[in-house]
Amino acid sequence: MSKILKEINKRRTFGIVSHPDAGKTTLTEKLLLFGGAIQVAGAVKSNKIKRHATSDFMEIERQRGISVATSVMAFKYRGLKINILDTPGHKDFAEDTFRTLTAVDSVIVVIDVAKGVEEQTERLVEVCRMRKTPIIVFVNKLDREGKDGFDLMDEVEEKLQLNVRPLSWPIGMGQRFKGVYNLYERKLVLFRPHGKQEEEEEVIEFTDLSDPELDRYVGESAAEELREEVRIVEEVYPAFDREAYVNAELSPVFFGSAVNNFGVKEMLDCFVEIAPTPLPRPTEERMVRPEEDQFAGFVFKIHANMDPKHRDRIAFLRVCSGIFQRNTNYLHVRQGRKMKFSNPTSFMASKKTVVDEAYPGDVVGLYDSGNFKIGDSVTEGEELHFKGIPSFSPEQFRYVNNADPLKSKQLNKGLDQLMDEGVAQLFTRDSDGRKIIGTVGALQFDVIQYRLENEYGASCSYEPVNLHKACWVSCDDDAALKEFLQRRKRDIAHDTHGQLVFLAESAWALKMAQDNHPKIQFHFTSEF
Ligand code: GDP
Repeated sequence: MSKILKEINKRRTFGIVSHPDAGKTTLTEKLLLFGGAIQVAGAVKSNKIKRHATSDFMEIERQRGISVATSVMAFKYRGLKINILDTPGHKDFAEDTFRTLTAVDSVIVVIDVAKGVEEQTERLVEVCRMRKTPIIVFVNKLDREGKDGFDLMDEVEEKLQLNVRPLSWPIGMGQRFKGVYNLYERKLVLFRPHGKQEEEEEVIEFTDLSDPELDRYVGESAAEELREEVRIVEEVYPAFDREAYVNAELSPVFFGSAVNNFGVKEMLDCFVEIAPTPLPRPTEERMVRPEEDQFAGFVFKIHANMDPKHRDRIAFLRVCSGIFQRNTNYLHVRQGRKMKFSNPTSFMASKKTVVDEAYPGDVVGLYDSGNFKIGDSVTEGEELHFKGIPSFSPEQFRYVNNADPLKSKQLNKGLDQLMDEGVAQLFTRDSDGRKIIGTVGALQFDVIQYRLENEYGASCSYEPVNLHKACWVSCDDDAALKEFLQRRKRDIAHDTHGQLVFLAESAWALKMAQDNHPKIQFHFTSEF
């Protein structure tokens, strides 16, 4: 087997998504402990924004610091190289998460057994479904009382529209939690309530649940219950089928308690066997396959330097094909020029190291002085444009004004760079040249104002603007487009890429525009 194929087969690149507080950070940390990437619990910091912390801004800075460190966490396990891509849980940063999901090959969804499927989980899984990303579900916090296992499975099927197949099943919960039965490997895994976090689990081969021995391990009534429930599981759910999972048609489910490091290893052992290796990625031109000779990749995230004295940013690039090499000339496709990278970085938990080579599935951090935008392609020379890295039509809008006339250059530069990072979207209205910022969440307005001041020495003020939605428009018929632009002059703007945008004041205005101009297409993501 060629070297590149060997390396590709070793890689698993995935993301963990959850509603805040379901246990994503805790689970990530336990996975890293298994891989030996970290030694102690508590090493992975939660990148949650606590809305009412002492100062939101300090919280934002703290979070940004952590989020550089935790953007990608790699660890080795059973001879494989596993890359976890971190996704912010806060809903105002959902766009960031959506874009990160374009760089993973599979996803683990964490659900709190007591809270069930929460809102943020629904939105994130919807994006995974659209992209046909294979999903494993981890039901967490079984050491607490929660919903009945079957009810929860129904909820997952209904709200997340996933077909599920439990591969482990809990034995009681809360005070009565005895452990899980691993249906994938036919093993009984016993939970010791007062066991230390890092202690080995007690795992017993147990192929036949009718064996009276089971009663000895978990007690008579729990044993009866487990037998009955496993019988139902086998009857109700389809048999596990790896192909169905990889095609995103079936989601295996595991139960456990991340904080107790319980049930995590069962999931990880299964994950490494079934999760897809780095997958091909579509470009506008053609499908890019990982095993191709030539290197190609795309930027899915940009992170500004925390130190205001250095304007550097880190662009996170997912390698999609070939081998990325340090100090090699590559083509920055959008700018049409060659660049090389002398200190590309990889991330092992909180450690950064310079890498000489990276393979498909890997993520490298490229130091950037303002050349990259989200979605940019880097190749060995071929003009490729990776697809599926969308901007979403924003729902919150404000006019942005320059509050310090002497600093207009700084303001424009700052706004440009923050938009490249994907913090928000900037529209310039054709009729009066006014600048409007659109975001998916309200927190971004604070972030922009704060960062403009701290990193660019510029100050901005906001003014309310009455808008319901901004959507991109396109049309094949020149005459119809011309008429539309003429009639809706006041509502036309351009985004920072020069694309046409329609600003709708209300849902009704949008509907009217759609009805009156049937030849115009209205798009709610910038990918079309
Ligand atoms: P995130 O917001 O999804 O990253 O959630 P965290 O990992 O920060 O966890 C949120 C809270 O739930 C923390 O206080 C954790 O200690 C707690 N937690 C995580 N896993 C478990 C678990 O298995 N059982 C219990 N009882 N608490 C847990």
